[in-house]
Amino acid sequence: MAVRAPAIGIDLGTTYSCVSVWQHDRVEVIANDQGNRTTPSCVGFRDTERLIGDAAKNQVVMNPANTVFDAKRLIGRRFSDASVQSDIKLWPFKVIGGTAEKPMVVVNYKGEEKQFAAEEISAMVLMKMRGIAETYLGSNVKNAVVTVPAYFNDSQRQATKDAGVIAGLNVMRIINEPTAAAIAYGLDKKATSVGEKNVLIFDLGGGTLDVSIVTIVEGCFKVKATSGDTHLGGEDFDNEMVNHFVQRLKRKGISGDQRSLRRLKIACERAKRTLSSTAQTTIAIDSLYDGFDFYSTITRARFEEMNMDLFRKCMVPVEKCLRDAMMGHSNIHDVVLVGGSTRIPKVQQLLQDFFNGKELCKSINPDEAVACGAAVQAAVLSGEGNEKVKYVETFDVTPLSLGLETSEDGAMTVLIPRNTTIPTKKKKIISSTYSDEQPGMWIPVYEGEGTMAWDNNLLREFELSVIPLPPSGFHRVSVCFDIDANGILNLSAKDKTTGQSITITDDKGRLSKDEIEKMVLESEKYKSEDEEHKEEVETKNALENYAYGMMNTIKDASKQLPAADKKKIEHAIESFIQWLDGNQLAEADEFEDKMKELESICNPIIAKMYQGAGGEAPIEIEDDAPTSSGIGSNNVGREIKVNVLWCSFFVEFIFNILLYFW
Ligand code: AMP
Repeated sequence: MAVRAPAIGIDLGTTYSCVSVWQHDRVEVIANDQGNRTTPSCVGFRDTERLIGDAAKNQVVMNPANTVFDAKRLIGRRFSDASVQSDIKLWPFKVIGGTAEKPMVVVNYKGEEKQFAAEEISAMVLMKMRGIAETYLGSNVKNAVVTVPAYFNDSQRQATKDAGVIAGLNVMRIINEPTAAAIAYGLDKKATSVGEKNVLIFDLGGGTLDVSIVTIVEGCFKVKATSGDTHLGGEDFDNEMVNHFVQRLKRKGISGDQRSLRRLKIACERAKRTLSSTAQTTIAIDSLYDGFDFYSTITRARFEEMNMDLFRKCMVPVEKCLRDAMMGHSNIHDVVLVGGSTRIPKVQQLLQDFFNGKELCKSINPDEAVACGAAVQAAVLSGEGNEKVKYVETFDVTPLSLGLETSEDGAMTVLIPRNTTIPTKKKKIISSTYSDEQPGMWIPVYEGEGTMAWDNNLLREFELSVIPLPPSGFHRVSVCFDIDANGILNLSAKDKTTGQSITITDDKGRLSKDEIEKMVLESEKYKSEDEEHKEEVETKNALENYAYGMMNTIKDASKQLPAADKKKIEHAIESFIQWLDGNQLAEADEFEDKMKELESICNPIIAKMYQGAGGEAPIEIEDDAPTSSGIGSNNVGREIKVNVLWCSFFVEFIFNILLYFW
């Protein structure tokens, strides 16, 4: 894999992720090994292996405590956050509070208890998406643009970027999901639109809601305002339905059984999807709990009624966004639907009613638009885009006001108001009278719209290192807030009295450089263990194929084969199969040795049989099919396959030349 691959775009979703690339002058959404264009953001830990994506989701019912999803609902948050505490109650896996209040997922992996930060789980999903792209492109992928909800705060963005680093990616840019969707929309509408257009992107996914108003003029995407909810989406609608059934089943004692709850949740999610296109559906789960078969019907009206408060909640950011952008309904040219949950008819109806019956734009794929926009941004940043996207330029905004608690009464001094275009920089001089006994100076940074600091969210606390106290007895410190194009805050400070820069020594809650490096090494270790395991499974399968293939061969050739030889092979195969059943966890070398042993018994007998019949042992051309000639013949098979391929290329080449001259 030596060729440099193009930069990719990854939509790292709460429930599903999607990867895309700009290639051959257009965006290509890349399907995974199962042929699916979106991959579950799910990681399963087992005694023998780690599974990511569809494979992890498929075993969740069997292994609920060790299958982790929803890492996006944990990333960059504190363990004590109300949303984390309420989510924990619904998750079948365990989450504990780590150092500096970092939530840590606890799982059992290969027989050992392991703790993972949300960044590490997200890194595993990112690594999977990277792998999908590498398989498709046939080369190593390094550069990527990763999307986050527009309403993600500074810590959540930084943590997502760290997850990219742990996954071995160079995260060229973190961009907002609705902005990425606007790029996809702009590309789609380019041929038919002229002049300035105000577009409202309504992005309702599995776990988050984002609303952004974007003004598009000739390839320039300027975000006017953004609003949203980082804890509102399809999963919440599923949970309402699960709660509804759990209430009805209370007497059956299901609420404490994680496995049954997981089965019920999967069925509810499926029912929810069905209800987007039908008025009624059935949920049937055999032996859901304690031998009890669950069967129930649910109507769309009932589903809408139980979620009405949440659906109405989705309209609040729309109103706020219009107000912040100082626009009325009539200023919006298009309302664009993005995210799987926008398929819910009631959500569409509420939105349409809000815009006085305006037709909603459903022309872009709600599951893929964000990844497509990210791929375009990746192509632009790496200079790989063509004329169509060369001029794409995005201007995003900060979702929340950022400020400091400066006065003694605890009032919040806003340095960067919400919806300020980024990148941006603001300075503020603060006075401090801390004495020699104080080892340093803490600067708490808040985010939010409350007038008092304590009404807002304490985002981060920066510790300024010890600076000598001037004779005046107090310091004048200039603090600079610098928000980069990723929406990440970088803080610097200078002592105005001495003119010296002050080092910021502590930044609680974030992963340190050392911690990230350690996680990178661990992630590489897990990756190579996965590869080793894959090799073992492949070798084991090959051995099994060989044994069963040989069994079929002797059955077919029972007349030509002397009884003693037949018995010898049968006995060898039976003892092999017995060994296989008892040694499922053996190493690849052991499987290979066993394979050779079996071949040394069977191959001479089979060869003798074919010679006796005056022919040659047949050679299978497909090297992964169960072969009657044994694994040893695979190289010959491969050679034949290559020759056949060369012949067909040659014939095709001659045909094309003839066609050209004709
Ligand atoms: P996203 O984060 O955009 O991939 O959206 C995932 C969410 O969309 C999940 O909660 C899905 O259950 C939900 N979803 C997907 N298709 C539908 C549908 N047809 N009706 C309702 N919800 C859907």
